[in-house]
Amino acid sequence: MALSKRLVDCGCDERLSLAVLDHLAGRSQIVACMSCGRLAFGEAMVNEPQPYDVQFLGYQRVALGEALEAWLGAWPRFVEVGGERVLLGAGERFLDWNAMQLAIGTAPRGWGRERLLATGVPEGHAPDGLPKVLRRFAEIWVALRWNDATPVAELKNAETRFQGPNHLAREEMTRRGV
Ligand SMILES: [Zn+2]
Repeated sequence: MALSKRLVDCGCDERLSLAVLDHLAGRSQIVACMSCGRLAFGEAMVNEPQPYDVQFLGYQRVALGEALEAWLGAWPRFVEVGGERVLLGAGERFLDWNAMQLAIGTAPRGWGRERLLATGVPEGHAPDGLPKVLRRFAEIWVALRWNDATPVAELKNAETRFQGPNHLAREEMTRRGV
């Protein structure tokens, strides 16, 4: 199958493609264009003839289907600035890179329950067929609905989910003082 040099091949400025919600395991990526809104999910294919000699070959895109694309696309996008994350809303659009930099410069820092909810998350739970590497999206969605009645054991279990809601679990346990 043909590989593409860009994950989102919409023709807009490549720098306007941002990762959605969180880093993924391995070489998988999910990104969205902040100009036209197009979303793409796939894996960077590389050739490693010897250790530390990694040659990027291109992206292998994976089709998600309409329902999953809409649900995943409703999560915030993020950039890292000076070691801190900045979230941008799924519906924000920028004409060019400078406009996006201005917005990033004035946006609040941080990645946690409060920032995620303020930036906007999908209303309903994940549609069927979520690829395994994207399962954290569903786990984070559930974690955002934790409340005082959520058992500590559930939080402790979630804290071990490094490909999931571990950060939100620590945040909630700190809030409760457990
Ligand atoms: Zn675009």
